[in-house]
Amino acid sequence: MESFEALRDEWLKALDEAQTESEVLELKGRFVGKKRGKIQDLLMQLKSAPPEERPLLGQAVNKLKGDAEAAIEAALKRVRAKRTQLEPIDVTLPGLRPNAGHLHPITRVRREIEDIFVSMGYAVAMGPEVEDPYHNFEALNTPADHPSRDIQDTFYLEGGLLLRTQTSPVQIRTMESRRPPIKIIAPGRVFRRDDDVSHSPMFFQVEGLVVDRGITMSDLKGTLLQFYRSLFQRDVNIRFRPSYFPFTEPSAETDLSCVICSGAGCPVCKRTGWLEVGGCGMVDPAVFASVGYDPEEYSGFAFGLGIDRMAMLKYGIDNIKYFYENDLAFLEQF
Ligand SMILES: [Zn+2]
Repeated sequence: MESFEALRDEWLKALDEAQTESEVLELKGRFVGKKRGKIQDLLMQLKSAPPEERPLLGQAVNKLKGDAEAAIEAALKRVRAKRTQLEPIDVTLPGLRPNAGHLHPITRVRREIEDIFVSMGYAVAMGPEVEDPYHNFEALNTPADHPSRDIQDTFYLEGGLLLRTQTSPVQIRTMESRRPPIKIIAPGRVFRRDDDVSHSPMFFQVEGLVVDRGITMSDLKGTLLQFYRSLFQRDVNIRFRPSYFPFTEPSAETDLSCVICSGAGCPVCKRTGWLEVGGCGMVDPAVFASVGYDPEEYSGFAFGLGIDRMAMLKYGIDNIKYFYENDLAFLEQF
């Protein structure tokens, strides 16, 4: 009977110390297991007890077994409750969504612009971002004394190279390697020493070039009108204002009827109802001469516009810097 009490103390202490379900289950096996359980062992030992003592001892062992089982059940309840408290599991909660990312707004608008022109029969042409002065300036009828070649505007590199200030050199490279008809757009990064809310030292531009026999300025205007209507998905209008660029003659600034106020006047269009969106014009005969095309035989138009600017208008963003700050709170809105 003394060893019974010792056994009781032993399991009470062990169960008290058990922290996990598996520890309690292990104790269950040790004390009340059918094979080699300590209480089972006691029952086996009963056979060697004197016959007159067996009923009493049998009762005592069975009570011991019942107590042990009750204590184990209580301990199981305790550790299971504790586990639920520590790590509550709600199987009805949705899983964690992996952070998959998405396209940058500039990339999306660039692809939209490309899709529109491709649907009008244009090819997409690419060129180097590090250029030589010939392709960036001279071939575009921009001589060495032209103000845009000033160190204030252009990033010059060692060895006389520069970061292209426009995607126009792609037009030259295309005309150098091919004969008309030509119908391309050239999207890409360009670099200028400019830095304020509407200018970034690096930004995205797309230029278009069409060269063939009989190309006129009305082709240019119709193309741009169709393009802006497709991009903004509404009946916008454009107008040309006379301008000057070294590589086009005549040249024009394109104004787009304000996509924010539809021409009524708002802060974005400075209450004019018009937005300045890019330059364009008929390719200057001097440019044709530099690539070996006969200006008497061929004519063409060229235009350029800022992809960042289009994205700003499309999404109503008032600072170009937001595109390049890698701020997820901003980028995740698109
Ligand atoms: Zn407006």
